[in-house]
Amino acid sequence: MSALFSPDQKKNHRILVIGNGMVGHHFLTTLATSAYSSQLELVTFSEEPRLAYDRVQLSKYFSGSSADDLALTTEAEYLQHNIHYLLNNKVVAIDTEAHTVMTNDGACHRYDKLVLATGSYPFVPPVPGNDQPHCLVYRTIEDLEAISASAQQSKVGVVVGGGLLGLEAANALTQAGLQTHVVEFAPRLMAVQLDEQGGDLLRDKIQQLGVEVHTGKNTLEIVSGEHCRYRMNFADGSHLETDMVLFSAGIRPQDELARDAGLTLGARGGVEINQACQTSDPDIYAIGECAVWQNQIFGLVAPGYQMAKVAAADIFASLFNDETKLHFQGADMSTKLKLLGVDVASIGDAHGRAEGCQSYVFKDEVSGVYKRLVVSGDGKKLLGAVLVGDVEAYGTLLQLKLNDMDIPGDPASLLLPAGSASEPAGLGVSALPEGAQICSCFDVTKADIASAVQSGCCTIADIKETTKASSGCGGCAALTKQVMDAELEALGVEVNNDLCEHFAYTRRELADIIRAKKLTSFKQVIEQCGHGHGCEICKPTIGSILASFENEYVLKDEHIGLQDTNDIFLGNMQKDGSYSIVPRVAGGEITPDKLIVIGEVAKQYDLYTKITGGQRIDLFGAQLHQLPEIWQRLVDAGFETGHAYGKSLRTVKSCVGSTWCRYGVLDSVSMAIALENRYKGLRAPHKIKFAVSG
Ligand SMILES: Cc1cc2nc3c(=O)[nH]c(=O)nc-3n(C[C@H](O)[C@H](O)[C@H](O)COP(=O)(O)OP(=O)(O)OC[C@H]3O[C@@H](n4cnc5c(N)ncnc54)[C@H](O)[C@@H]3O)c2cc1C
Repeated sequence: MSALFSPDQKKNHRILVIGNGMVGHHFLTTLATSAYSSQLELVTFSEEPRLAYDRVQLSKYFSGSSADDLALTTEAEYLQHNIHYLLNNKVVAIDTEAHTVMTNDGACHRYDKLVLATGSYPFVPPVPGNDQPHCLVYRTIEDLEAISASAQQSKVGVVVGGGLLGLEAANALTQAGLQTHVVEFAPRLMAVQLDEQGGDLLRDKIQQLGVEVHTGKNTLEIVSGEHCRYRMNFADGSHLETDMVLFSAGIRPQDELARDAGLTLGARGGVEINQACQTSDPDIYAIGECAVWQNQIFGLVAPGYQMAKVAAADIFASLFNDETKLHFQGADMSTKLKLLGVDVASIGDAHGRAEGCQSYVFKDEVSGVYKRLVVSGDGKKLLGAVLVGDVEAYGTLLQLKLNDMDIPGDPASLLLPAGSASEPAGLGVSALPEGAQICSCFDVTKADIASAVQSGCCTIADIKETTKASSGCGGCAALTKQVMDAELEALGVEVNNDLCEHFAYTRRELADIIRAKKLTSFKQVIEQCGHGHGCEICKPTIGSILASFENEYVLKDEHIGLQDTNDIFLGNMQKDGSYSIVPRVAGGEITPDKLIVIGEVAKQYDLYTKITGGQRIDLFGAQLHQLPEIWQRLVDAGFETGHAYGKSLRTVKSCVGSTWCRYGVLDSVSMAIALENRYKGLRAPHKIKFAVSG
């Protein structure tokens, strides 16, 4: 698909952008929304079949996000901004003399300024057998589709690479239901970001989650397997059988076009750029993961956005004599992530390589927490940090490092768990300089957030809309809120986190009070810690807290008034006001007679039926007045409610296990039934679902 208009004579400067990934898109948006947009003709080429999407959130595809959910823009938006785009269109050559590029369909396009935003490609180690059908990579939406298709025909998956992306890929395979292994060449996981102890703890935690980690393994070849599709043979003589191999062993800059065009490359590849993001040809810029600056390639999106800003400013300076000059000066590569559910963060010199530096270490083996601070020899400055299992201090530590601030008090106190009595004072957001960068994805400073608050923003949604802070990777969300709250308070606005007008506490504080005081009814709670009669906010909240702690029958007289509609009517209210009903079918095991009853009820009341993800039968479209009759018929046939509407145990699903399956080694159905009957009705802060594999 494409939208390419004939050359616009009125727009006298033609800018071509090769690659419509995250950074190319950011660059185009910067130009299209600038004061010079009416004088620019913008054209972008994408080798992929769609416009830019959020590669950072790619893994969400496995938890239900669609390609549309991940999209960063739409074709309509590009048309509205007069950005011409050519999808499925690969640029194959650049003629620097003629100022033209050629695409794979043979078309030739002229440029005044050319921007390379071609990103990078996954590195696949050159081992024999790496090109077989179920040997895949993890970079694009098409890659994810291939992984999903392969996973459906596989039981075991191996990720080659124990770095950041490798562990994300491992998460994707576990979500796809595969028995997952990670094979890493280095002696530990995330060797770039973590020190030895941090890497070891991460390994333990990931293994506890069922992912097998094999470090120090050099893959020699991938051949046919005996029990699985493939067998990976390692240099130490060991081997591993798998049905699928996912390579995630690093990235390489996509620099082929630049190489062929004679542009200068970095020693290890990448298009070399100066501090204005210009390549060795002054009319060609390179931004994002394809660029190399002072021999460094930046595999994160924030430095790419920074380059986009710098390149745009340089183009404005050159075409319109704009005086804003920006310089790319490298970027901080600190990261904070949740990998397979484990919190991990790394800041600056995490390995303590700086001369004369000292380390402070905190380790809690019981809770599985490891923290290391690397500080300057005089103990005044933070140089780096590793955090595994508890990353609450990340925002504060990162700001200390980025702003070269003095560490207040004893550095060791920075390692103590959050809320500890010895937590050092003077670390609040008020201590940060105005220029402190809060959001690195969109380069938003404390002053930018303050100015947004001064111009009327008073919620996080307002701040995101106005400044874009925390709308990228989301790592700065907590800090952005703290800065916003501090600014609101400074303006005399009372920042109120109270649950509602009846309780001057947050949900979490109320839960603590209810537990500590052993309160068991709404009446007691409002008498002892609130006032008035309660409302539609505090009643269900307290109902849920009481149910989680006490697990009393929620329809008892004293509790029924606190429950949501769904709990009261034993059905799930749908968007048209009708209800859906899910009878409990423990473990998914059901008799033909019971199936017939469900079918008859559905027919009699004209209900839409659907098998749910949890292996139950959902009956949709019942009217409120029909619910008692329907439940009566189901109860008479031996059914009870499946709690498909509550914050409670919903379903325990299972495979058929050893009863029927040739490969099942355990009786998963009996286990699922036992679990479901044991925990049915259990209330919790959120819904709970289990699964049992035989
Ligand atoms: C699974 C995953 C998780 C990630 N998580 C994070 C994270 O948590 N935080 C973070 O900061 N970063 C993360 N990243 C990295 C981040 O996605 C990249 O830094 C960012 O996408 C780089 O943007 P880019 O525009 O330079 O390259 P890309 O987004 O790769 O875009 C380049 C585009 O150019 C196209 N192209 C290449 N050559 C041509 C050609 N000749 N003609 C036409 N089109 C061409 C490519 O097909 C591609 O569409 C992650 C990446 C992945 C894959």
